[in-house]
Amino acid sequence: MALLLVLLALAVVLLAVSLAAVAVRRRRPEPGPPPAPAPPPAAPAAVPQREEPPSAEPRPEREPEPPPRPEPPPEVAPPEVAPTELAPPEGAVKPRFRDRLGQARALFAGYVSSVLSRMAIDAETWGELEEALIRADVGVATTTRLLEALRARVSADGIKDSQALVDALKADLKETLAAGDRTLHCEPGAPNVWLFVGVNGVGKTTSIGKIAQRERANGRSVVMAAGDTFRAAATEQLAMWSERAGADLVRGAEGADPGSVIFDAVERARARGADLVLADTAGRLHTKVNLMEELRKVRRIAERPPARLQEVLLVVDATTGQNGLVQARQFTDAVGVTGIVLTKLDGTAKGGIAVAIQADLGLPIKLVGLGETADDLVDFDPSEFVEALFE
Ligand code: GDP
Repeated sequence: MALLLVLLALAVVLLAVSLAAVAVRRRRPEPGPPPAPAPPPAAPAAVPQREEPPSAEPRPEREPEPPPRPEPPPEVAPPEVAPTELAPPEGAVKPRFRDRLGQARALFAGYVSSVLSRMAIDAETWGELEEALIRADVGVATTTRLLEALRARVSADGIKDSQALVDALKADLKETLAAGDRTLHCEPGAPNVWLFVGVNGVGKTTSIGKIAQRERANGRSVVMAAGDTFRAAATEQLAMWSERAGADLVRGAEGADPGSVIFDAVERARARGADLVLADTAGRLHTKVNLMEELRKVRRIAERPPARLQEVLLVVDATTGQNGLVQARQFTDAVGVTGIVLTKLDGTAKGGIAVAIQADLGLPIKLVGLGETADDLVDFDPSEFVEALFE
């Protein structure tokens, strides 16, 4: 009986233990995959720890910054170009007369060497000098005057040999060409105006472009006035030059009154405190009265305060020879001319027209075109010019 009681107690204990084990198992979580390793500490974005497959839309870590507000547009101002940017590159060589006056030099060289081949001064010598000057486009009237003065000097100075004669002629030519004021006037203050006149095709627009670039390089602020409203191409050409030079451009509609374009350009220059207005004008039919009338009107506008008309520059194509002299007379009569821009001396020009204009009309050659690029416009230097012709 005692044994039965012990067995019964043992059975109760066993039952209690197994019931407790079931309860514990029920409370335990289901077995799963091993927990993921803890993420590595955040690394700097620029140094990825490992290659991630590219995801189409990476989730941003935080809200993206709002896009920056657009700045208000700057006030429209004339393009500012530092003068040094436009200066010819270091080492750029100014074109020289002796390198560019091809045709004119060849012509003179032939006559001069023939004159020098004879020691004495005789009738043939005088004949050759006359022919050389006339063929070089100096013109009959100026040639006659020059040779009369030379004969007088030969007898006064007792010149006997041909070298001394050639030297005396060179000195006379230099003196003739050096007369007059070759300065291009521009004063501080009110807008200075340089008006460009001349027939079509002589190189007005190109010269204005070259001058704009040169004046910008000298530190002056420039407004270009596209006053040749009859030629759309002239305005486009000026627009190109103005961009290149960093100059402001005022243009009118095709066929617009050129005077109004010049007026607007002066206004623009005054408002912006610009130093210089370079004004282009039409050049058609210089023999017709209406063009000259129109130029007179443009001139009146260009000299009305606050504008200060400083220069009326007649552009002459040196290859047109004596015809250039006729043009110079007509434009001078109509609008008054303060100086000449002589273009295309590098081409087939014979050069003598410079002497003719200066001697006949007393107009100084201020600038000379020796080619088509921006650097091919130089101040006229009478001495260098004459030396180049005779070298
Ligand atoms: P515009 O009608 O008077 O305005 O003449 P443009 O300025 O349009 O010039 C007519 C042509 O002459 C253009 O092909 C220019 O490139 C050329 N030209 C202007 N100046 C010179 C120069 O000094 N030398 C040479 N060789 N050509 C020039």
